[in-house]
Amino acid sequence: MANCAIVGVNWGDEGKGRMVDLLTEEFDVVVRYQGGGNAGHTVINEHGKFALHLLPSGIFRKGVVNILGNGVALDPENLVLEIEDLDCKGISITPENLKISDRASLLMPWHRDLDALEENRLKDKKYGSTKQGIAPFYSDKFQKKTVLAGELFYPKQLREHLAGLLEWKNLILTKVYGAKAYTMDMLEEWLEESCEKIKPFITDTGAFLKQAQKDGKRILFEAQLGSLRDLDYGIYPYTTSSNTTAAYAPIGSGLPSAKIGRVIGVVKAYSTCVGEGPFVCEMFGREAETLREAGAEYGAKTGRPRRVGPIDLVATRYGAEVQGCTEIALTKLDVLSYMEQIPVCVAYEINGRQTETFPFPAALADARPVIRTVPGWKRDISQVRTWEELPKEAKDYVLLIERALECPVTYVSVGPERESIILRK
Ligand code: GDP
Repeated sequence: MANCAIVGVNWGDEGKGRMVDLLTEEFDVVVRYQGGGNAGHTVINEHGKFALHLLPSGIFRKGVVNILGNGVALDPENLVLEIEDLDCKGISITPENLKISDRASLLMPWHRDLDALEENRLKDKKYGSTKQGIAPFYSDKFQKKTVLAGELFYPKQLREHLAGLLEWKNLILTKVYGAKAYTMDMLEEWLEESCEKIKPFITDTGAFLKQAQKDGKRILFEAQLGSLRDLDYGIYPYTTSSNTTAAYAPIGSGLPSAKIGRVIGVVKAYSTCVGEGPFVCEMFGREAETLREAGAEYGAKTGRPRRVGPIDLVATRYGAEVQGCTEIALTKLDVLSYMEQIPVCVAYEINGRQTETFPFPAALADARPVIRTVPGWKRDISQVRTWEELPKEAKDYVLLIERALECPVTYVSVGPERESIILRK
């Protein structure tokens, strides 16, 4: 069986978590390969309802090994809280079902401070960061100014390394932002309170994955956010600070030679976007409020209301291309059941010219959506489990998306629960 990646095609929050949770049945290993605890995957299954932030969504399946790869922003403080939270709800997390790459860089306590300090400095020009320290973390990783998880096993070198980083970071905290300096005692407390607790999970996950591949194990790569938030291909600078694309999965997972034969792109039946930045097909007022309520579009991490709009075929086609999708999972189709007529963004108009090609990010500010409406189905489809049972209008809507993306829609999700799915193979 080919390696498989489950990725977001839009701005994130497409429902990747529910798809990973569903499909882990077919896999032995699930790897998160980028991003940090700044977003959330919501999963509803027989154990209850969970908002996962850093832990891979395969954590609920017995026998599945979950890996946090070298590409993630490993925040020990939040990870410990997440592990404890799941533990309280009866999901046991052990070094058998969770392995953390020794090459994952650690998100330091000051990264969260710097995120908040910079957003405050930017005031009304802020990016809408979740203030989880992700941008300062990845900047530091690329500057080679953070610590690898495996260094926790080398206490002497670790203290020397931390002392050097502390001196440098305090200059920035105090001289640039006028904030309070960190002390070595504060870092010792962080090591003791959080890092010590994740140590049992840290291992050479690259070696584990190589062996898993040799043994013919089935590996699933799980992404965070979506194409339009990719650092290189998204709506820069309103992107995240890592690569959300499937192409990054081998690098960020610890298996750089992996070939990914199957890329499942998760597409939401309408558009949502959290935070700042251009969002061409945005709806406002009552219309937006109704869609937001129908889809319960509030951030899993922050509770922030998400911006909403009709499906944007221009951005979604681009998103699917960037991911190299081999198939599409269309989620939240049930949410549109209340609509008499369903709006669809089929093109952009930029300075009087119509285009179906997703433009350079700076041109998005002048783009206006070209909207077409298609008939709604006006009935509850949340109990539908086969393609044949779907109302004709709902099938037509799915087929319209399939044609626009030039990629088969193989799953249609009609509810948040594991079993609320239509397989179309
Ligand atoms: P992720 O980060 O891509 O996993 O997405 P989120 O978890 O942030 O957002 C998806 C939300 O939609 C979650 O609350 C899911 O429970 C919910 N969800 C996923 N698929 C469906 C669906 O088909 N229908 C409905 N009504 N909700 C869904």
